[in-house]
Amino acid sequence: EAITIQELANRMAERAVDVIKLLMKQGQMLKINDVIDADTAEIIAEEMGHRVKRVSEADVEMGLMGDEDAPDDMVSRAPVVTVMGHVDHGKTSLLDAIRKADVVTGEAGGITQHIGAYQVETPGGTVTFVDTPGHEAFTAMRARGAKVTDLVVLVVAADDGVMPQTVEAINHARAAEVPIIVAINKIDKPDADPQRVRTELLQHEIVVESMGGDTLEVEVSAAKRTNLDKLLDAILLQSEILELKANPDRPADGVVVEAQLDKGRGPVATVLIQRGTLNVGDIFVAGSAWGRVRALINDRGSNVDSAGPSVPVEVLGLHSTPEAGDQFVVVDAEQRAREITDYRERKRRELKGAPSSARASLEQMMSQLKEGARKEVPVLIKADVQGSAEAIVQALEKLGNEEVHAQVVLYGVGGISESDVTLASASNAVILGFNVRANKQAREAADQSGIEVRYYNVIYDLVDDVKAVMEGLLAPTV
Ligand code: GDP
Repeated sequence: EAITIQELANRMAERAVDVIKLLMKQGQMLKINDVIDADTAEIIAEEMGHRVKRVSEADVEMGLMGDEDAPDDMVSRAPVVTVMGHVDHGKTSLLDAIRKADVVTGEAGGITQHIGAYQVETPGGTVTFVDTPGHEAFTAMRARGAKVTDLVVLVVAADDGVMPQTVEAINHARAAEVPIIVAINKIDKPDADPQRVRTELLQHEIVVESMGGDTLEVEVSAAKRTNLDKLLDAILLQSEILELKANPDRPADGVVVEAQLDKGRGPVATVLIQRGTLNVGDIFVAGSAWGRVRALINDRGSNVDSAGPSVPVEVLGLHSTPEAGDQFVVVDAEQRAREITDYRERKRRELKGAPSSARASLEQMMSQLKEGARKEVPVLIKADVQGSAEAIVQALEKLGNEEVHAQVVLYGVGGISESDVTLASASNAVILGFNVRANKQAREAADQSGIEVRYYNVIYDLVDDVKAVMEGLLAPTV
């Protein structure tokens, strides 16, 4: 009752690396040709939103059906857009202005509800916006393996130009392989210089259309509501190129974009449906939470019976609160939902209770590499901002050769926490912090489990240390 990761990925038509990442999140460090048991494979498949069919239960042979939707069942869906950019460049203002420009809410007197995402109907089509601007939402979701966004609108203030978080956002969108549309904002300001924005973007290899490139750009003013229609048109144009489609006639799956415990209503999650249609009464799993849909509430605050692809909807009926970025999937029976959540809980506990014998330091890795006892340098990266984290990961991926390579077990933004140490310890990884520190609990846990934590404030130094380990040249710390 076993299957290799590669084979499982093939059958699901997913990338093996995504399967490995998922397993990693559950505390299993495996490689592409490693074998996992049928139960694990089933959970993974379910988690990735596939319906699982064991070809013959009695048989030792297990089969997982790839559940790609038939081309004939695919129907166009609205693009899902995230707005990113430097602080104060007008992300929130733009999201608000666009929402107010919506024909339906506009006419209804602007009665809206914040649920973490909303849809805008334009004469040219519908657009879904994730309205938690900034990189955190995007980061949280990507860190958990969720691909939510089809397009990034990069907001750059015309009076300020390209700033550090602009660059971060660019890196971000690139890493996620999501196309960018540039919104040059604040063109109403007297000192606005849109041309400067275009030129500065060139340095980051973004060539906008008016400069002969293929990145769509629109000059807007969120304050004066100038050219919002043009921006929406650009989004729709770009999404036409992407040919976004999904099968609405299947059990739903999607991603949790927001979740909280509401005093009156209990656990509430906003889910962005990615495939299929979610109905009241459906049984579902979201991360390690599950429930039966008691009510669905749309972004206008109305109760609805169902929600299809690209539609954001608040879901009531959870038994506990999932997290942003959790995969959401409808299952056919309560029993199945319990099995999946139990399994995830168990994995989580196992990870917590993992023996603390694991010891990892860069120096030790170096000597093990020299002895030929290992072939990878497992590292866990925490950085102050996503852009740096991505930059570090990219640089580390370039290191190494056939014999040895860096293995990033996790990268993320924020201080080093106890759970980072737990994961590092489960993966025998060292923790490399860039412009962040470990909190007290994390330091204690690291001491106890013998996990080395190193701090850096220059990316080059960090990468250089890992390189030195690979080359057997790391200088001993004094
Ligand atoms: P965020 O941090 O990117 O979400 O930026 P905000 O939307 O909070 O905007 C920052 C500041 O810029 C606020 O004071 C806005 O009123 C202002 N602002 C945003 N868009 C425009 C614009 O198009 N024109 C002008 N003049 N000010 C704007």
